[in-house]
Amino acid sequence: MKIAGVESLVVHAESRNWIFVKVASDKGLVGWGEATLEWKTRAVTGAVADLGALVVGRAIASAAAIEALHDEIVVRGYYPLDVVTASALSGIETALWDLLGQTEGVPIVALLGGAKRESVAAYSNLGNGESAANTWTPDPAIVESEADAAVRAGFTSVKVKPIAPGWSGNPVAAVDLVKRLRARVGRGVGIALDLHGRCETRDAIALGHALGAEEIVFFEEPCRPGDVAGLVELRGTIPFPIATGERLTGDAAFDEIFRRRACDIVQPDVVHCGGLVEAKRIAARAAKVGMSVAPHNPLGPIATAAAVHLALAIENVHSLEVRLADAPWRDEIVDAPVRPTAGAFAKPTRPGLSVAIREDVARRFPFREVTPPCPVDDAGRVLRW
Ligand SMILES: [Mg+2]
Repeated sequence: MKIAGVESLVVHAESRNWIFVKVASDKGLVGWGEATLEWKTRAVTGAVADLGALVVGRAIASAAAIEALHDEIVVRGYYPLDVVTASALSGIETALWDLLGQTEGVPIVALLGGAKRESVAAYSNLGNGESAANTWTPDPAIVESEADAAVRAGFTSVKVKPIAPGWSGNPVAAVDLVKRLRARVGRGVGIALDLHGRCETRDAIALGHALGAEEIVFFEEPCRPGDVAGLVELRGTIPFPIATGERLTGDAAFDEIFRRRACDIVQPDVVHCGGLVEAKRIAARAAKVGMSVAPHNPLGPIATAAAVHLALAIENVHSLEVRLADAPWRDEIVDAPVRPTAGAFAKPTRPGLSVAIREDVARRFPFREVTPPCPVDDAGRVLRW
């Protein structure tokens, strides 16, 4: 099988533009990948075109051929693997896996070494993309109703952002929110906290201590992005697991985290880390230092499908994030909904990715301008979100 064409399809999905990558083979097959990178849509579609020129005409006969082509693209790029290029590469690479799986009549997970389990537990990122209130101001009433919905849907774990951008460092409201959430969902449902890189290390430590005996599944991005020393310090003082890694690109970017044992759970995003090849390498390195993997997964249905194959193929998966309510027609643009059942994704059985874009439907939602939604404080200062 040879690659005959590579193109992007942009779909405006309310809070962001999804970027799907369509790769055609010379045998008439079509493979799909996702390269969504918020607020960099035109940069990524440009990168897909640039990288596509390296892929068209190439023969893809095995998993090893995809891995070799992945590495060749990185080497040819000369510069370090940036997030725009990595996202474009991921979109193309996932589509190649889809094509190879379809050609061989097996799901991608079989090409990644085979499934290590029959299903993977998902956790609900509360709000599922529909609630701005969950992102900006953690309103306890909204969090409770969203938690009710998640429990009704069968999730056994939920995640909430307990602090707002520009947080003062006072832990009282965040601790109250966690206590209310615990009272609402009971002991049988795990609670993870995403601090979204909004804290100074000292404030994250104070929050960890203030949470006291609360059971927390993990503390996500508790320090400023890139502050590995802060993670190490925090990990030595609080009793629950630390998770991080959604903004890192390429497996080498995880070097310091692995070397310094800076967290317990790594969270590569299959789209941004450079694709399934890169994500699998990150997972293997994490396993060697006793860390598990909870893939970051807030994007479209093709990204979710790719993350499910990864999660099933690795030994040390923790759980998989889901965000399902970002666009009301999310399930309509694909030929089979990519959704968990009773809080878990079952092993896909169809060849390749097990899902394809319905182009006629997807093209009803063309690109629209979306700018980063950072809040502004009373002094007019733009806050990290
Ligand atoms: Mg996060």
